[in-house]
Amino acid sequence: MNLREDIRNIAIIAHVDHGKTTLVDQLLKYSGTFRDNEQVDERAMDSGDIERERGITILAKNTAIKYKDHTINILDTPGHADFGGEVERIMKMVDGVLLVVDAYEGCMPQTRFVLKKALEQRLTPIVVLNKIDRPNARPSEVIDEVLDLFIELGADDDQLEFPVMYASALNGTSGEEPEDQQETMDPIFETILEHIPAPVDNADEPLQFQVTLLDYNEYVGRIGVGRVFRGSIKVGQQVVVMKEDGTKKSFRVSKLFGFIGLKRIEIEEAKTGDIVAVAGMEDLNVGETICPESHPEALPVLRIDEPTLQMT
Ligand code: GDP
Repeated sequence: MNLREDIRNIAIIAHVDHGKTTLVDQLLKYSGTFRDNEQVDERAMDSGDIERERGITILAKNTAIKYKDHTINILDTPGHADFGGEVERIMKMVDGVLLVVDAYEGCMPQTRFVLKKALEQRLTPIVVLNKIDRPNARPSEVIDEVLDLFIELGADDDQLEFPVMYASALNGTSGEEPEDQQETMDPIFETILEHIPAPVDNADEPLQFQVTLLDYNEYVGRIGVGRVFRGSIKVGQQVVVMKEDGTKKSFRVSKLFGFIGLKRIEIEEAKTGDIVAVAGMEDLNVGETICPESHPEALPVLRIDEPTLQMT
């Protein structure tokens, strides 16, 4: 089995305020993907682009970080139970999760909610105990709480072997022990590369691309963001979209976008494991699969957001 060793796809999950945004900003900064000032502009610009399409809010964003010879796609997830469907869709695109937990506050309702989804999807977890600089941080107690939560939520034996990293996203330090902190994010990058499975490389098979999120741009129209699950997709290629009612609509891929940092860049081709954005089809909806005309095989339909009333 060939693997795309150059890629890792992960989701970052946490209770609100436990430090996801600060951590992703530090990862970007330490990777050198963008200089600080550029990065701030990009983030500001990105939020201006947010569009609503049929009630689906683009609350998730991909940050593509170049580290050594790898691209690490980090998908942000909403922590709130109202967005359960969106969390599940994002988790279909990734092979692992970075669970960020405040080393003082410990596990909170949204920690539980998002971890449950990740474990159900059989994703490989890495735990980051953040805010280790807080004077009242209690890392050893919190890690016990995290382990109890994994057990209670039915983690399998592999998932229970989760690596633990300690970090201060605020100060830009990380390490394998609370008292052994390096002023760099390298320990976190290395843990991601070592533990998160690389996507399987089956670029020779017929294309399957699943639309997970929708975006809109005034120049290219509707854009479907998702993962290439099989095969490859090229600009100019004639493809079909498998609609939920079983019908097919053909279109020509007008543009493809990859990601660098928080920015979208035009590319010519994407392959298995890549997370990209496809333009050219106005009638494109979440959950639909794009395939070649010769192999119209849809992936299982993804659930659309339905507010979840209670946190389980
Ligand atoms: P998010 O809601 O998970 O994205 O959390 P943010 O990244 O926005 O962080 C929430 C708050 O916690 C902000 O005020 C951050 O400055 C602070 N914060 C984040 N990481 C750390 C950390 O490592 N140590 C401390 N002391 N504060 C942090």
